[in-house]
Amino acid sequence: MKRVLYYLLTAILLHVALPMQARQYTVESVPNVQVADRTQYVTDPDGYIDSASRLHINTMLAQLRDSNSVEAAVVILPSIGNEDIDNFATELFTHWGIGKASNDNGLLFIAVMDQRQIVIRTGYGIEGVLPDVLCSRIIRRYITPSFREGAYGKGMSDAVEQTLHIIMTPEASAELIADEPLFDEADKAALYTLLYVYVLLSLFISFLLSVRIKRTVSKYRNAPYQCYKELNSNNLAILLLAIFFPVWGVINYVYCRQVMKKMRTMPRNCGNCGTAMQRLSEVEDNRYLSPQEDTEERIGSVDYDVWMCHNCQNTEVFRFDKKYTQYSECPHCHAKAYSIAHDHIILPATTLSPGKGEKVYTCQHCHKRNVIPYIIPMIVVPKNSGGSGGGFGGGFGGGMTGGGGARGGW
Ligand SMILES: [Zn+2]
Ligand SMILES: [Zn+2]
Repeated sequence: MKRVLYYLLTAILLHVALPMQARQYTVESVPNVQVADRTQYVTDPDGYIDSASRLHINTMLAQLRDSNSVEAAVVILPSIGNEDIDNFATELFTHWGIGKASNDNGLLFIAVMDQRQIVIRTGYGIEGVLPDVLCSRIIRRYITPSFREGAYGKGMSDAVEQTLHIIMTPEASAELIADEPLFDEADKAALYTLLYVYVLLSLFISFLLSVRIKRTVSKYRNAPYQCYKELNSNNLAILLLAIFFPVWGVINYVYCRQVMKKMRTMPRNCGNCGTAMQRLSEVEDNRYLSPQEDTEERIGSVDYDVWMCHNCQNTEVFRFDKKYTQYSECPHCHAKAYSIAHDHIILPATTLSPGKGEKVYTCQHCHKRNVIPYIIPMIVVPKNSGGSGGGFGGGFGGGMTGGGGARGGW
């Protein structure tokens, strides 16, 4: 009799103890309650959610489906082993095909008890009304505190309620965003420090630049043309700096341009006789230019200044390259008058064979033509990636997710 009792006791103990080991679920083994019963939205095999909360959630989600055609599912699992909950959520979402295939308006709440993690996963179609930042706030505000106290039903039903509120009345999202400041105190302090360092750094760099410009001017005091060229090469660096330090960069750039202009028009003396020279006008200077220089000035790739000494008729020509021009140096005559004239397709590319094209370059000075053939790559058609959006879930419409939503723990 004692032995029978012992066996009986062992059997009862085993029966009680076995389910204590959390059952591990895979994407395939999670029961889809929607398939069995259209009014059920909560998959909770271990019964973490009390029946009142379950009823509340079911009612809310049915209403959501009827009024907004948004399909939602709530899943609470004891364990998914070592699987990452984020991946699991996305896979389950696709496997069940939550949301209508036409507008991907699915929504999944999934909690994994042994990992103490929860994910809200949104379909492509509702990422707009329910952005990740809102999902994250719903988790932090409604799920985390309740779940910490073991009030799983309350936490989940509050979260679902808030989410619905946002989907049905988009103004609600503004409230939720307005409630929490964009930056907390620590963020603010870091931001101010960064701003401070930035301002200091830009002041310092600006100071260095102006010193450099002044130095260049004093170094080439008697050679304004060299000074101009030196500043011109610096100017590009200043322009680049202006991207990072707009105010100081622009101030230095303008300052540099003004000094350059001054250098270009600065009175100079004749190298022969020392008499003050005169800068000729753009029309007058043409007859002192070579045919190549004349072409370059005519097409606007280079500007030439001609200075003349009226005492000994000595002329000096200074070259100023235009920065933004379509012309480059001609490989034949070396005039800066070489540019692309045509770019035409001789044979268009198809999905079966590459095509052919040619670029024709001409020189405005020596009029030589250069034809450079090139190959147009074959057209590659992307393989059709439209998979079946998980038609498995008899209850759901085959919606897809782009992995939107948020994750949180408790
Ligand atoms: Zn002279
Ligand atoms: Zn040429």
